[in-house]
Amino acid sequence: MLLAELREQVVRVGMNALELGIVHGTAGNMSIRDAESGLIAISPSGMPYAAVTAEDVVVLDDQGKIQDSCRKPSSETPLHTMIYRQRPHVGAIVHTHSHFSTVVSTIRDALPPILTEITLVLGAGVPVTRYGLTGTSDLGESVLEVLDHRGLAVILRNHGLIAFGKDFAEALMVAEIVEEAAKVYVHALAANGGREPYLVPEDLIPEMRERFLASYGQPTARSGGPDGESCRRHTGKFPWLPI
Ligand SMILES: [Zn+2]
Repeated sequence: MLLAELREQVVRVGMNALELGIVHGTAGNMSIRDAESGLIAISPSGMPYAAVTAEDVVVLDDQGKIQDSCRKPSSETPLHTMIYRQRPHVGAIVHTHSHFSTVVSTIRDALPPILTEITLVLGAGVPVTRYGLTGTSDLGESVLEVLDHRGLAVILRNHGLIAFGKDFAEALMVAEIVEEAAKVYVHALAANGGREPYLVPEDLIPEMRERFLASYGQPTARSGGPDGESCRRHTGKFPWLPI
């Protein structure tokens, strides 16, 4: 079976997203790119997450040409392949219909910097696309129109959320962080009579983010003792992000 390990990862991330409540039924889709071959493993179309096995996951190239599977790929395959072609930093994609991100997609042009956590990981906000035609390359185009060169998340107008990472762990974490921030934002608007709530001051974000990305996480080894170089060495959660 071609890309067996990555196909297993697609199955697992689907179940993880289901357990987190950011996907339901057959909605949403996930894919991961093999760094060596450039091939993509993507979830199959219209199958409940719990029923999907590694054999059901479809392997295709970045033009959408199927290389291995007995299943039809996700109906949003053009969205995934277009992003992989145009954003080399993306190694994995998690697309969800998570509730509060979708609410924001109907009322705003961006999710503003409502929580410290989201600003540390994603910067000043998450853009919302124009309406993109689902199942076609138009949806991919609508994402690329607002996705920064190394952006990690975009909210899809009247549709849902798409999150990126170098692997599924990062993409899923980004999806969770955006959904939590969207939830707080929607509740804050309601609690504040529809008026915009206080936001993280935008002028503070670059410095905060730089400090976070340079210091968050654990060192790779402790063999160097309290003052040893290996103890200070930083692995970071997002070592690939620009700061
Ligand atoms: Zn969708």
